[in-house]
Amino acid sequence: MSNSKGTTPESSTDDDRYAVAVVGGGPAGLTTALYAARLGHETVVFDRGGGRAAMMQDTHNVIGTPESVSGADFLSTAVDQLRSYGADYRREFVTGIERVDDSFALETTDGSAVAERVVLATGFTDERPEPPLPRTGRGLHYCLHCDAYMFVGESVYVMGHSESAAHVAMIMLNFTDDVDLLLRGDEPTWSDETATLLEGHPVDIVHEDVTGVRNGDDGWLEALEFADGTVREYRGGFAMYGSEYNNGLAASLGADLNDDGTVAVDDHGRTSVDGLSAVGDLTPGHNQIPVAMGQGAKAGLAIHKGLRTFPKSLAELEAEGPVSTSDAPTMAAGPGTETSEQASTGDD
Ligand SMILES: Cc1cc2nc3c(=O)[nH]c(=O)nc-3n(C[C@H](O)[C@H](O)[C@H](O)COP(=O)(O)OP(=O)(O)OC[C@H]3O[C@@H](n4cnc5c(N)ncnc54)[C@H](O)[C@@H]3O)c2cc1C
Repeated sequence: MSNSKGTTPESSTDDDRYAVAVVGGGPAGLTTALYAARLGHETVVFDRGGGRAAMMQDTHNVIGTPESVSGADFLSTAVDQLRSYGADYRREFVTGIERVDDSFALETTDGSAVAERVVLATGFTDERPEPPLPRTGRGLHYCLHCDAYMFVGESVYVMGHSESAAHVAMIMLNFTDDVDLLLRGDEPTWSDETATLLEGHPVDIVHEDVTGVRNGDDGWLEALEFADGTVREYRGGFAMYGSEYNNGLAASLGADLNDDGTVAVDDHGRTSVDGLSAVGDLTPGHNQIPVAMGQGAKAGLAIHKGLRTFPKSLAELEAEGPVSTSDAPTMAAGPGTETSEQASTGDD
């Protein structure tokens, strides 16, 4: 085990000291935490709840997970899995993080903690259009690559007036020939080039605002009502009003941010701040669960490489002498505990 706890401030109790603290308990953060915990590091996840994965009615694109699994069930299974390996999951909102010597001091709504490494997995919040709106996941959708499949050959809307709204409307022509772009009374902000592209694609632009929603008995959208009295039938559509990145903690620690608000990371999730990683929707890349989980896994493995005790370097061996078997701790038995032989075979 590599829980070097000697660098922590005197004020925190042993219970609040961790090797790895993950902020955000979505698919990205929970995956990082699972790797860190199973590789022998004292790990905690702080999670406010209610992130993007928690909004899912169904789970798509995740091999081995039935489509009918809701986001809430997906996440609670993951939390049980994590806890079974001894990690802490704390339903707390992290309000601030400060560097203290080689560690990080975290303040939460209910307490505090100290950790050698911090992983930010706080995601982003989709900007929601004004009501009236269809039900999320039953006619109102935020994830093109998750839900476009549901609309093959169906009547579809895209709500928004931005560059990305225009592009998503044209992308939906890969799935159906019946696409409306709903401006809802706003002026378009897309470029002249995009305007020309739109003219060359069979996308109907509707200027009037939405005034009412008609749902079927199953709760799915059937039609939208408009300010000019017209009614248009839709199976569903996408809202494209931008994303608000939850990057405040990263910014307060001085981590580099990209122009769009994502946190800049390398291929292993490392930010520009030593000991601070970021994963999932908070970072650049496709906003998908398998991608978030992959980023979480890579960050967890990189953190393990940085924290683990063995192998000692040549300099350490020269200074401290050879390692004896009594120096190597045994991992506590737990679900799926590897044998020491399996656990020491390499980096993969
Ligand atoms: C409606 C909807 C449906 C989707 N469907 C699919 C799908 O079917 N398949 C798919 O692959 N992808 C889907 N996605 C995309 C997927 O949900 C995201 O890509 C994924 O959840 C990103 O994981 P994450 O861990 O980065 O962020 P999130 O899942 O958003 O989790 C972030 C967590 O951090 C917490 N948090 C934020 N700030 C703090 C703080 N300061 N302290 C403590 N906690 C904090 C939040 O409360 C949240 O729990 C969908 C998205 C939406 C919105």
